[in-house]
Amino acid sequence: MQTDVIIIGAGPTGLSLACQLIRYGVEFVIIDKKETTTPHSKAIGVQARTLEIYEQIGLADKLIAQGAIVEKVRMFAAGKVRGEAEFKNIGKGLSPYPYVLIVEQGKHETLLHDHIRSHGQEIRWQTELEGFTQTQAGVTATIKTADGKTETIEAKYLVACDGATSLVRHSLGLEFAGSTFERMFYVADVRLDWEFSHDALQVFLMKNSLLAFFPMVGDNRYRIVGTFPEEFDKDEGDVLYEEIEERIKTDTELKLEMTNVNWFSTYKVHTRHVDKFSVGRCFLAGDAAHIHSPAGAQGMNTGIQDGYNLAWKLALVLKGKASGELLNTYNEERLPNAEVLTRSTDRFFGLVASPEPFLVFTRLYVFPYIAQFLFSLDMVKRFIFPRVSQITINYEDQSLSQEHGSFAVHAGDRMPWFEIDGASIYDRLREPVFHLLVFFDGNTEIPPLPDDLMKEWEGLIDSTVISLYPNIAEIFGTKESFFIILRPDNYIGLISNDFSPELVRKYLARITR
Ligand SMILES: Cc1cc2nc3c(=O)[nH]c(=O)nc-3n(C[C@H](O)[C@H](O)[C@H](O)COP(=O)(O)OP(=O)(O)OC[C@H]3O[C@@H](n4cnc5c(N)ncnc54)[C@H](O)[C@@H]3O)c2cc1C
Repeated sequence: MQTDVIIIGAGPTGLSLACQLIRYGVEFVIIDKKETTTPHSKAIGVQARTLEIYEQIGLADKLIAQGAIVEKVRMFAAGKVRGEAEFKNIGKGLSPYPYVLIVEQGKHETLLHDHIRSHGQEIRWQTELEGFTQTQAGVTATIKTADGKTETIEAKYLVACDGATSLVRHSLGLEFAGSTFERMFYVADVRLDWEFSHDALQVFLMKNSLLAFFPMVGDNRYRIVGTFPEEFDKDEGDVLYEEIEERIKTDTELKLEMTNVNWFSTYKVHTRHVDKFSVGRCFLAGDAAHIHSPAGAQGMNTGIQDGYNLAWKLALVLKGKASGELLNTYNEERLPNAEVLTRSTDRFFGLVASPEPFLVFTRLYVFPYIAQFLFSLDMVKRFIFPRVSQITINYEDQSLSQEHGSFAVHAGDRMPWFEIDGASIYDRLREPVFHLLVFFDGNTEIPPLPDDLMKEWEGLIDSTVISLYPNIAEIFGTKESFFIILRPDNYIGLISNDFSPELVRKYLARITR
């Protein structure tokens, strides 16, 4: 069998990459050793950036319809409510999805799976990658099929979305440096009967543990995530559900009844990332490339963005519009992001669970009382939301980012969200092509692009002229005409107030060279 791209693993990363490749018309094969999508709730926090990406393929509303939005955060300490803060619209004005959506991973994967099938593609379940070789021309993967036969698949590229224990990563000999948390985490998906309303993320502030209840769709259904104390020394497989329930009751110091347990698990958390996201024609994405604490609900969302970054580059190279060099920018852009991600999730975990006396004091005796006030401040909302929602991830200072002029938004940033006459700017940015956006102040003389350039890029770039309304001028920090070349993943490639066609030519040549 021959194909352009073989995707190993059909978890959220592999499935969402397949959806992106469909968008670009790239031929692929996707395999997974499991029987089908996960039946468990696993990763439940879906961030705004993921929804923005899904909007482009018509999946955002469908996913939202199956989930619940976190309306508020309620903080407890020593069995008492210490503070409550609004969360629902925390990112108002920054994204069309100004919240965190809670959806079980099982439903999420099913939606992606259905999307893939509706485009005439099948996932090859119960099909395991056993090994692979690569040359300068392609990759040969050896797989074991559902009926126990061994087959080979020839592909031009391989993308490893095979999770934390990635066979591909091991075979490529890539480092996965980092550390392992001493404490054991537990997770339980239960019905919870107690006196508090079901619309809040409930956070329990303790001396040296983490405990949070996430409201899920369904009568009083919650995802509970917590940690055992450091002295708890059982192995992961030896913990009984009753011990988890006992721990939760002890830590909350509340009267609660847990029933209808859909799923529970215990696990050790590692913080690790690869030192390279690709070797030759093999690329890593998702947990195969980075793992970290679940604090902040970032892992799955990051894997989805890995694939989003890679897909358009693979598409251009496979269509012969760009050389293989473009693919080097995948590592260049995603590795620093993985480094920041592992550092920031560690720091966040420290803030919520560190036994360090100053942090314990702040967590128990200061934060709960000022949280409501803090969360009401625009300044605080504008600090928290962009970071958690992943809209602030950027590729500034990387080789595909160029800037001419002085702006408040930079080359390498995600295209900021705003409305024009009540309609989202993103409505104009759904096609999987480059977008030339001219923001016109009504005065500047703008030269047309040369015919030969337009011809060379026909079908790969569209163009729009937009009036430089005051809200747009404020976001970009300029009152004069400027233009943007937006990459197919809606990150700003070039931003400039110099309208020289040569600048555009040079920028696009950087992509194709
Ligand atoms: C309790 C918990 C809560 C979490 N909550 C969140 C959250 O709220 N938000 C968030 O963003 N993240 C969360 N995460 C992290 C998230 O679950 C992971 O980051 C995400 O599942 C990674 O997806 P993936 O597709 O990269 O890997 P995986 O989900 O591990 O999928 C890998 C797939 O590859 C397949 N595979 C492996 N080897 C082979 C092989 N040799 N051949 C064929 N197939 C193979 C496997 O069967 C599997 O289906 C949470 C994690 C945990 C443990």
